Amino acid sequence: MSSKYLESLYPSYGQSFNMDKVLFESKTEHQHLVIFENEQFGRVMALDGIIQTTEKDEFIYHEMLTHVPLLAHQNPKKVLIIGGGDGGILRETLKHQQLEKIVQVEIDRAVIDMCKEYFPNHSQGAFDDPRATIVIDDGIHFVRECQEKFDIIISDSTDPIGPGEVLFTNDFYRLAKNCLNEGGIMVAQNGVVMMQPDEVVNTRLRMGQYFAEQSFYTVAVPTYVGGAMTLAWGTDEPQHRQTDLETVRQRYVASGIKTRYYNPEMHTAAFALPQYVIELLKKTS
Ligand code: SAM
Repeated sequence: MSSKYLESLYPSYGQSFNMDKVLFESKTEHQHLVIFENEQFGRVMALDGIIQTTEKDEFIYHEMLTHVPLLAHQNPKKVLIIGGGDGGILRETLKHQQLEKIVQVEIDRAVIDMCKEYFPNHSQGAFDDPRATIVIDDGIHFVRECQEKFDIIISDSTDPIGPGEVLFTNDFYRLAKNCLNEGGIMVAQNGVVMMQPDEVVNTRLRMGQYFAEQSFYTVAVPTYVGGAMTLAWGTDEPQHRQTDLETVRQRYVASGIKTRYYNPEMHTAAFALPQYVIELLKKTS
């Protein structure tokens, strides 16, 4: 009889997984890391009691957090990834052949090392790509010191608990904005709005101070329980979000990228927000 993994993100609600086999468990310098096998979702990784990624549904989140900003921007060349230790965002970003440089800043080397070993299909060699530079650092320290500028910033962090908390602060958004080229786009993992409505309100109030347009788009990821996850969007160029379907389609076809969830229709539809989220955001103005 396999033991159960109970996700502890929400005190009164949660999902549980049969741990058919525990592959790795440790307290790293920054967080508790566990990797186990589950019959339904394949290999699963959790950090500090919160599900981070699974073999079965990772493509949904990684494709939407990557291809929406990269295909909304007309000509991205440099990308900054914060977090993303499993390598899924880096893998998807590298599919854009026109990119010249991708810098990834991950606080916990152990996450990269363990994911390379136990989730090889997440990174698929991405960490060794000549266009990729991997920096082990706290994301907020990196953007504070960074002299480079990027066209796209993707914050693929844990939830605002523990080391991820700083990546949801005014300071982080302000400093990240300073690392964006004119017309750049920043996107960030922003929680499941039905369960974490404060994250949407806080991000509007905090990120909204530094970008002419701060909005959200959504994606439903089965193992990010509680409904659609919001992905935060920030840019000074409103036309990026309004890129018409035909233009997105042309860019997608020209990129030659193969996807399993993302397509131009999902791209444009993702920016439609449920009425309760619109009402929630109205309270911040
Ligand atoms: N897709 C997941 C989600 O939506 O919750 C996130 C996956 S990824 C594993 C999250 C990564 O953020 C982890 O590798 C973690 O080590 C990293 N991380 C957390 N806080 C960080 C910080 N302050 N700076 C850089 N990386 C951080």
